[in-house]
Amino acid sequence: MELLDGKKVSKSVKDALKLETARLRSLQLRAPHLAAILIGHDGASETYVASKIKNCEETGFLSSLIRLPVEVSEKEVLDTIGQLNKRDDIDGILVQLPLPVHVSEQQVINSIDPAKDVDGFHPVSTGKMVQGMPTFIPATPYGIMLMLEYYGIPTIGKHAVVIGRSNIVGRPISILLSQQGTYANCTVTLCHSRTTNLKEICSGADIIVAALGKPGFLTADMVKENAVVIDVGITRVADDSKKSGFALKGDVDFIRVAPKCSYITPVPGGVGLMTIAALLKNTFNAYLLRTQGDTN
Ligand code: NAD
Repeated sequence: MELLDGKKVSKSVKDALKLETARLRSLQLRAPHLAAILIGHDGASETYVASKIKNCEETGFLSSLIRLPVEVSEKEVLDTIGQLNKRDDIDGILVQLPLPVHVSEQQVINSIDPAKDVDGFHPVSTGKMVQGMPTFIPATPYGIMLMLEYYGIPTIGKHAVVIGRSNIVGRPISILLSQQGTYANCTVTLCHSRTTNLKEICSGADIIVAALGKPGFLTADMVKENAVVIDVGITRVADDSKKSGFALKGDVDFIRVAPKCSYITPVPGGVGLMTIAALLKNTFNAYLLRTQGDTN
């Protein structure tokens, strides 16, 4: 069994971006600039946004954090995005999810300029992704694809099972794995809460992507020998032994599943770190497209 080390892979992605950004700065060009909107004070959202901002700084990117109160109106959120859309010095805009119930996620996503849609959630980005056109790929699936490539994991003709059909993880990774490409070309089964024979489907899988948000859901009896297991789940579970009072748990029963796998991602230290690296890559590409009309 080999661990798919998100720390190592994300570092290699970030190091390359850092070098490119330093090169831009040496040419007196500005650095890529990510704007993040955070509504309210949800603990997990605060942590995710802080990490995104910190990673921007470490890579040499510019970042702006726009905080809005939880009672902000939908119109105010849309107006804020409208202003960021117009600003020439901002390349990428993300709105940290989830949103308060009175603010429509779809309205918010639709209002982001597709040229700055570095989370890849806009319908224009989704449409292009489905058609295999160059676009912003949602950061978590993009990060998983970068990881498969880094470790040279054989995927062609393999049976990949994705558990979870959300627009931000499950559905896009199912599409990416099914497309043509050296680290794709899988036969994909997309499972969800209404799938009836999940254990049977998973047992035949060469690759399993677990993205449902249920700690320890994927057990050893659902996984065949030498499978590749990608654990996307991140759930905060109460843990008095931790200073924070919680531990992060993945969707995989790691202790029992890992010995059966050829490769597996840990939680934490796996897909989560890749998500941030992929977001930075999207931001860099947005910068290139907006300033030079090209991507590397
Ligand atoms: P979501 O709640 O939007 O979707 C969950 C999906 O799981 C749904 O499609 C549902 O049909 C499916 N599901 C639920 N119960 C199921 C069951 N018993 N059997 C089969 N399918 C079932 O969640 P999401 O936003 O896709 O996130 C999933 C998990 O991934 C969460 O733990 C989330 O925190 C985590 N996540 C991690 C990262 C990262 O960077 N690592 C990024 C995004 C989400």
